[in-house]
Amino acid sequence: MRILVVGGGGREHALCWALENSPLVQELICAPGNAGIARHAECVPVDAEDVEALTALARDRKVDFVVVGPEVALCKGLTDSLKAAGIKSFGPSAAAAQLEGSKGFMKDICREFGIPTAKYGRFSDLEEALAFVRAQGAPIVIKADGLAAGKGVVVAQTLEEAETATRAILSEEAFGKAGAEVVIEAFMEGEEVSFFVLVDGEAALPLASAQDHKRAFDGDEGPNTGGMGAYSPAPALTPALADQVMREIIRPTIDGMKARGCPYKGVLYAGLMLTDEGPKLVEYNVRFGDPECQVLMLRLKSDLLPALMACSDGLLRNVDLRWHDNAALTVVMAAKGYPGGYEKGSVISGLDALQDDPDLVVFHAGTKAGTNGAVLANGGRVLNVTALGSSIGAAQKRAYDAVDRIDWTEGFCRRDIGWRAIEREAK
Ligand code: ATP
Repeated sequence: MRILVVGGGGREHALCWALENSPLVQELICAPGNAGIARHAECVPVDAEDVEALTALARDRKVDFVVVGPEVALCKGLTDSLKAAGIKSFGPSAAAAQLEGSKGFMKDICREFGIPTAKYGRFSDLEEALAFVRAQGAPIVIKADGLAAGKGVVVAQTLEEAETATRAILSEEAFGKAGAEVVIEAFMEGEEVSFFVLVDGEAALPLASAQDHKRAFDGDEGPNTGGMGAYSPAPALTPALADQVMREIIRPTIDGMKARGCPYKGVLYAGLMLTDEGPKLVEYNVRFGDPECQVLMLRLKSDLLPALMACSDGLLRNVDLRWHDNAALTVVMAAKGYPGGYEKGSVISGLDALQDDPDLVVFHAGTKAGTNGAVLANGGRVLNVTALGSSIGAAQKRAYDAVDRIDWTEGFCRRDIGWRAIEREAK
């Protein structure tokens, strides 16, 4: 089969790496890809958010199946456009992608179908929003309704902070259309975990749990980022809790989306808060996490492609995936300055020597090929050094041993990825 993967980050490198091993794949294309993906797939310079150009590419290259990595194209209707062109794909329709594309939509689904989540209100009028904020008090969470690349959420500790955030969002200056509405939520306390489930419109197949590290610096300090590292499984989500999440959160969501006339197909990524009252939904994402996908792919033993195709065909019931019992951990190496301004174009060396260890893969995020096979930094998050180990501590050690062999003085990483789970393992 001819497969097109959409995207060019570490997540898509991990997807291409997994798909390359599928006996069903004859040809792998990636748009736009990166220097690491180019080792597994033909990279085509088409923007990952350009629905029309991606559809034309899939049509022209007679692609049999498209795997969509990032959320923007999904929310813009890429799978609908592909369907209209007669091409199958992995990912939800634009209508179903609203679970991520509109926080208000997601919260309304929770309210309608009894899914545990923080109490909330949605507003487009500033005075009404401010009155709600004042009535609730701090701490309180203020969110732009639409996609804001993780920057549209303020966990406000004081009323003043909450009012400033509400004004900033509804003025539409900070977030444009994504801020035409604001969702205001009660603050939830607990440990956060991510849970990934494949869905075919009706059937659900739980994949695995993971935990990520959003802050830029050690000790969970510094500004928020796209994610500085992750590991899987997340020991905090015990099998009993995972069952509870399936029963109380995932199942009613799938049934609710079907009842609403927009059945969900693809991977459902639930961001959960483990509160004293049980697991509650923080957010849904409609695609794999980046960098969580990297650890999931390393742990997956089975062929990925039939599972992704079964989501599209409504045949997930027939799929059974096998996983390594081992844990996996990924360390993100980023350009100095990220998530603020950073330089592009610095040379990264030492990667070739890391290719012989079967339990270690360096996935590329923002890289591009230089001359004579050189790898150049070309983004904020640049490499994902990903390792398997008999415990999260062992996977961490293998990952940092590899980080220390990479020669890239213009880069940095956190040195404490996995700390929460490793503290648990020590007990
Ligand atoms: P991202 O893309 O970074 O995951 P997002 O923009 O989709 O973020 P959310 O996941 O809804 O937004 O919120 C971002 C973070 O804010 C959460 O991971 C969580 O740490 C915190 N947060 C969100 N809602 C709440 C809440 N009700 N109570 C406590 N913390 C919250």
